[in-house]
Amino acid sequence: MVLGAGMAGLNAAAALQQVGRQVVVLDKGRGVGGRLATRRAEGAVFDHGAQFLTARSPRWRALVDRWSEEGVAVEWCRGFTGEADGHPRWRGQPGMTALAKSLAQGLDVRLQTQVTALRQQDGFWNLSTAANETLLAHALILTAPVPQSLALLDAGGVKMEAALRARLAAITYERCLVVMVTLDARSNVPPPGGVALTDGPIAWIGDNQQKGISVEPALTIHASAEYSLTNWDRPREETARELLAAAAPWLGGRVRQQQMHGWRYSRPERIDDCGALVLSDLPPLIIAGDAFAGARIEGAALSGLAAAEKLLALQ
Ligand SMILES: Cc1cc2nc3c(=O)[nH]c(=O)nc-3n(C[C@H](O)[C@H](O)[C@H](O)COP(=O)(O)OP(=O)(O)OC[C@H]3O[C@@H](n4cnc5c(N)ncnc54)[C@H](O)[C@@H]3O)c2cc1C
Repeated sequence: MVLGAGMAGLNAAAALQQVGRQVVVLDKGRGVGGRLATRRAEGAVFDHGAQFLTARSPRWRALVDRWSEEGVAVEWCRGFTGEADGHPRWRGQPGMTALAKSLAQGLDVRLQTQVTALRQQDGFWNLSTAANETLLAHALILTAPVPQSLALLDAGGVKMEAALRARLAAITYERCLVVMVTLDARSNVPPPGGVALTDGPIAWIGDNQQKGISVEPALTIHASAEYSLTNWDRPREETARELLAAAAPWLGGRVRQQQMHGWRYSRPERIDDCGALVLSDLPPLIIAGDAFAGARIEGAALSGLAAAEKLLALQ
């Protein structure tokens, strides 16, 4: 069983199913993708989590090439203003979640299933859900952000060596406040449709129209990690107002409609570079996700593959 239908969980599940293992993927969300998230509003489309993916390792590049052939991934550009380094930046077609949906095809994914606690029971992992179900797994791969996985283990009273627990507890994440706006005219974001900023409250402005996913002018504005942390508990309308004031030079048109989102676990601040970590070998329990192989989509995918390999080596 795999907990989490993000890039790590789906890659782990696909790899296990490919070698004949029976796998069930659980996710609390209404759709697959986790931090690959695409939202629609009044004709506009926003990628409001991960903006694009890069492919550095040959293994991951092979999957991205396949997606490209199938039209699921499209090259967006080879860098943004000030950092055109010639490496392809890929986007999902018609949005980032398309990549997750493609991986999920043929997998047994159970959505809107929130796991609330894990415990060991007679050689199985026993998972309690928010709907008061109990599910049993011979083996389990956890791919939620690490603090969320630790909370599930704690809720079920799973014992762990103090050093191992401290190692996992040291993995913290940046936060990211997001404002999504539709405009009544094209934005001033320079081609190819993204600006990364290093000063001030904004870290990134993505133009979903230039990116090719939205017919309507639609911007995704990511606050910086520092701004997001400091302002997390303030009313969202206030932070949206501040962020839009800071984004004024790039807006181009009048704001027609706005929405906010907050990623409590946006990117890991420190990577525990082991691919995936075996927490128990009998019954197997493995923890994976971007915190174990790189704070990006590729890192999450490679961690999922590492988790599947580690599980197969145990069984
Ligand atoms: C704002 C933002 C911008 C980013 N930009 C980029 C970018 O441009 N390029 C890039 O490569 N990367 C980017 N990233 C990072 C990238 O999105 C992540 O590294 C990657 O998607 C992580 O995948 P994952 O599978 O490890 O975790 P997740 O995608 O977080 O998947 C974990 C899943 O577990 C589920 N889950 C959690 N708890 C439970 C529970 N109790 N029960 C059931 N299910 C549960 C969640 O619903 C989620 O679907 C960005 C991330 C954010 C937030």
